[in-house]
Amino acid sequence: GGTRRMSAVPLPLPTTLARPGGVDATYAERAAPGSRGQLVDRFGRVHRDLRISLTDRCSLRCTYCMPEQGVEWLAKSSILTTDEIVRVAGVLASLGIVEVRLTGGEPLLRRDIVDVVRRVAAIEGVAGPLEVSMTTNGLKLPELAEPLREAGLARVNVSIDTLRRDRFAELTRRDRLDDVLSGIRAARRAGFAPLKLNAVPMRGVNDDEIVDLVQFAVDNGAQMRFIEQMPLDAGHTWSRSEMVDAGEILDKLTRRFTLTPIGERGSSPSQDYLVDGGPTTVGLIASVSAPFCGACDRVRLTADGQIRNCLFAREESDLLPLLRGAEGSSPADDDAIADLLRRSIAGKRAGHGIDDPGFLQPQRPMSAIGG
Ligand code: SAM
Ligand code: SF4
Repeated sequence: GGTRRMSAVPLPLPTTLARPGGVDATYAERAAPGSRGQLVDRFGRVHRDLRISLTDRCSLRCTYCMPEQGVEWLAKSSILTTDEIVRVAGVLASLGIVEVRLTGGEPLLRRDIVDVVRRVAAIEGVAGPLEVSMTTNGLKLPELAEPLREAGLARVNVSIDTLRRDRFAELTRRDRLDDVLSGIRAARRAGFAPLKLNAVPMRGVNDDEIVDLVQFAVDNGAQMRFIEQMPLDAGHTWSRSEMVDAGEILDKLTRRFTLTPIGERGSSPSQDYLVDGGPTTVGLIASVSAPFCGACDRVRLTADGQIRNCLFAREESDLLPLLRGAEGSSPADDDAIADLLRRSIAGKRAGHGIDDPGFLQPQRPMSAIGG
């Protein structure tokens, strides 16, 4: 008994919730049995997408993400167990989360990754089992693509920033381009479709390969997506003026291909285009130059049990004391976990504010947040 002290940052719950855009007044009544309602923030954004970072470790050291040396690893004892991950994902599923993306660090470095996928994909959400996808550097896909597919992984995104071996070695500080290429082939063989490839264009580094990367995707039955570089590098060297933005990428691409915009962006951060009439598409993710915060439906769980309501959040809500019991008390029940999740979403800001004069880069590098 007794009241549990929550270690979360004290976030005021909104007194009145804005009516969620596109969600009618009866959404709560229509929610499936076992549901705890939805995760709606002050701006009416309904949260449906969960990113789980499975580890902060990585087999590469991409310059825009990790330092070359002296990485401050998360304490091993704080890394969530698979049981804990499954439990939190289950509570989030009862709160309306329907999609889960596994990321990191490098998610394939987690030894029980196939088991994680199988168990998360078996969780019943309000609209059926959770849809599980993954973002990976692809190095371990040659061994793992098939077992992952069999375990229920629905989609996979592989990051590849350059097709040149020497550049790859420089950019990721590891000479492993061939393994990524094998990984991409393995993902295709295993039947992952559409297979998406992610690249972060950087001035003077790989911005002369934007057309080549799309051609590579076309040749390999994949979809290329370009992500604007965000201020998340360990070295804090990001500069807005140096960033290759979506407009510039589009400009380079239209000199070579005919691009036809498809659909509305919706809650998807990607603006997609048909390449030369299709079926291949290319996507531009303009996180900085055209932020999609207004339609954001994401919540993040870090490998060490912190809930982040934004990539750029300055506060986190700590689930560990609830999951493990703090100061001699016993672990909390699912209601208390749901409560913390609701509070975290209630405190979500309108936007990431990268363009605000007072913007501060988050303390964690991307590898410890989960991209
Ligand atoms: N290791 C996996 C990988 O590289 O795909 C998953 C984690 S990684 C952090 C997820 C995605 O975030 C990758 O596509 C990576 O290119 C992207 N990313 C990392 N740092 C970034 C930054 N500063 N700006 C934009 N995207 C970034
Ligand atoms: Fe590792 Fe992915 Fe970060 Fe590269 S972007 S260092 S592969 S976590």
